[in-house]
Amino acid sequence: MKTALITGITGQDGSYLGEFLLAKGYEVHGIVRRASMFNRSRIEHLRADPKVYGERLFLHYADLQDVTSLRRIFRDVAPVEVYHLAGQSHVGLSFAVPESTLQEVSVSTLSILEICRDLPVSPRIYHASSSEVFGIPDTVPQDLSTAFRPENPYGCAKVFATSMCRVYRRVHGLFVVSGIAYNHESPRRGENFVTRKIASAAARWHAGDHTPIEVGNLDAARDWGYAPEYVEAFWKMLGRENPEDFVLATGEMTRLRDFICHCFSAAGIDLNFEGQGLEERAVDAESGKEVLRVSERFFRKVDTGNLVGDPSKAKEKLGWKAETRGIRLAEVLVQAEIDAFV
Ligand code: NAP
Repeated sequence: MKTALITGITGQDGSYLGEFLLAKGYEVHGIVRRASMFNRSRIEHLRADPKVYGERLFLHYADLQDVTSLRRIFRDVAPVEVYHLAGQSHVGLSFAVPESTLQEVSVSTLSILEICRDLPVSPRIYHASSSEVFGIPDTVPQDLSTAFRPENPYGCAKVFATSMCRVYRRVHGLFVVSGIAYNHESPRRGENFVTRKIASAAARWHAGDHTPIEVGNLDAARDWGYAPEYVEAFWKMLGRENPEDFVLATGEMTRLRDFICHCFSAAGIDLNFEGQGLEERAVDAESGKEVLRVSERFFRKVDTGNLVGDPSKAKEKLGWKAETRGIRLAEVLVQAEIDAFV
């Protein structure tokens, strides 16, 4: 039985990856941190399964900044695969908390590389990098030859971490790879992410709660995929003969305005957009009621450019493709929110 260690197992990706590796027959260890509210909701179903929890799934308390505890866990677990997913993952918030973002995303990744380097047998390491390393890119779509030009503290931190992974691969011979992942969503996405906010608003509207919501830049465009599919790519990257980075993306960009239409349409509601810029709003085409309005509060200080990834290398070398995107992704997200009401 292979042993894997996941940092960030309580997060969106970590929870799907935990399920995926358990289904593949792995013994899975996850690092969890103490919070004043119990933060295991995404893996509660695994914890509640007596055949899994304590048998093939084990949780260990540590914080990314508590390097002594991390070192002890890595030593005791002796994983063959490490999936390093933990860290502050909200781009907008990284402007509010830049120092802790840098500490968690950059310095902690370096600590994990150092810990792994010192183990008697170094594990294979997956590092969760991000399309935000490209910031405002000079090429569309982006691939591994695209220059890093981050535009926010989160992107800067991921540039440092991704670069360090490359250094440790070259200089110390570690099997460490970065997945430069574009946005991937799911019903388990944090509630302060825009896709989740919109899917949940569409479901509430469908259920009769007609409270309008506020959103930021409707012209912002993203390459949005579906998280459960992305974790399979993480695993495939560690199963290769040689360590290499990959861009993980759908290859398609959707504007926020279109994504909103897809979500409300999935809930059976047609929208009309009125006005422009900060005056723009969407109304229910049938009742004329306001569904959402634009608010400056949700605009990023600097928005990233046309971030859309070129997934051809992942298709060719991993046999991996992001299948769920666009209208289908909106349907999956909204249906999950509607089901949660029942
Ligand atoms: P997420 O849902 O925000 O999960 C983050 C995880 O990190 C949670 O388990 C969180 O624990 C843990 N964590 C945060 N700070 C920590 C600390 N100081 N010590 C220990 N654990 C800590 O993020 P995600 O969407 O699953 O993303 C996983 C990784 O992929 C992140 O590194 C993210 O930056 C990267 N990424 C994500 C996307 C995407 O679209 N989802 C795209 C590109 C890259 P709590 O549950 O206790 O908060």
